[in-house]
Amino acid sequence: MADTSGQQKQVVAIVGLGLIGASLALALRGKYRVAGCSRSRATERYALERGIVDEIRPVDRLKGVSCVVVCTPLSALRDTVKQVYDIVGDESIITDVGSVKGLLCGLPGRIVGGHPMAGTEHSGINAAKRHLFENAVYCVVPYPQSRSQDVEFVKELAHAAKAKPLEISAEKHDRLVAYYSHMPHMAAYALSGTAIGEDVSIAGSGFMDSTRIACSDPDFWTEVFRLNRDNTLSALDGYISVLNDMRGMLADNDYSALNSALADACSRRKTLAAARVADSGHTVTVDVLDEVGSLGAVASLLAESGANIANIGILDSREGIGGALVLSFTTPRDASLARKALTAAGYCVS
Ligand code: NAP
Repeated sequence: MADTSGQQKQVVAIVGLGLIGASLALALRGKYRVAGCSRSRATERYALERGIVDEIRPVDRLKGVSCVVVCTPLSALRDTVKQVYDIVGDESIITDVGSVKGLLCGLPGRIVGGHPMAGTEHSGINAAKRHLFENAVYCVVPYPQSRSQDVEFVKELAHAAKAKPLEISAEKHDRLVAYYSHMPHMAAYALSGTAIGEDVSIAGSGFMDSTRIACSDPDFWTEVFRLNRDNTLSALDGYISVLNDMRGMLADNDYSALNSALADACSRRKTLAAARVADSGHTVTVDVLDEVGSLGAVASLLAESGANIANIGILDSREGIGGALVLSFTTPRDASLARKALTAAGYCVS
């Protein structure tokens, strides 16, 4: 199919039309011709009827496409990549979205790993969202045999899905996700499993927020923990050791040590939040008063100015920074609109 300039669109094929595959298909349609296939005919029909894909094309008819994105569950990922390679050979790039990147090491073909750091606790095609990857980090993982132009192609795919590609080795990816992705799930499952279950009306937003991801698919997470076992065990050991330290401080009535440990954790979390905002695009730091409604006032002002906020972070320390609210924008134009609107309204902006 040709685009408006008369050029043929490159065909990207998605194998496995669940939450991630169908969301990616939605995000890529228009920029590429998106072919898709899944395990169940009902899912394929749904994808075609809802305009999630341009066409259904089974794996044995994928020869000649520019790129195949394998989005099957982790348990089927390696075999699906092998099955795809048997059809497309070295003619097409093969990438995946799997949450563990060591999994594809050593396979033949033009393979470049991928892992969009976005998801929900829901699964299946019904949970798909076009905007799922917007502003999310998309890990792009070259393997020893990957060609640099194929790595660039996968980065372009990530850009096209409005995500932010981050090139990272498989080893480093699997070590870091054990802390930043696997451990929060393990902790949420553990906390939910520890809760007694009586007088549930007492459970407030702190408990509900901290355990939200315990509703994620247990089969999926068992598979993630199994496939990234060593890294998960190391992260778990670190977490248990911190919990044990805190327990020891409490048991010993050492409240000064406990307070320091909590304050250190609190400060690390705030630094992380601010760094994420600063990383996420063009930033504007604005001084706001610590009072009810100040955040809403800034948000309304920016909405009126037409500046689209990508992310918001709150800094607790104003020293040497000149403001407490860090706003990030995806384009310099949005950042400039925001700066003008805030300055005109009398805010101190840097
Ligand atoms: P999902 O919603 O369960 O979707 C996977 C879909 O693949 C299923 O709905 C199934 O669709 C289809 N499928 C299963 N086996 C297949 C096979 N052998 N061949 C073709 N299609 C098959 O799972 P998901 O959350 O999208 O996860 C998919 C991949 O994304 C996983 O590798 C996961 O590690 C990765 N990932 C997940 C998240 C997350 O938060 N969920 C985030 C980032 C990456 P039908 O049976 O309906 O056809």
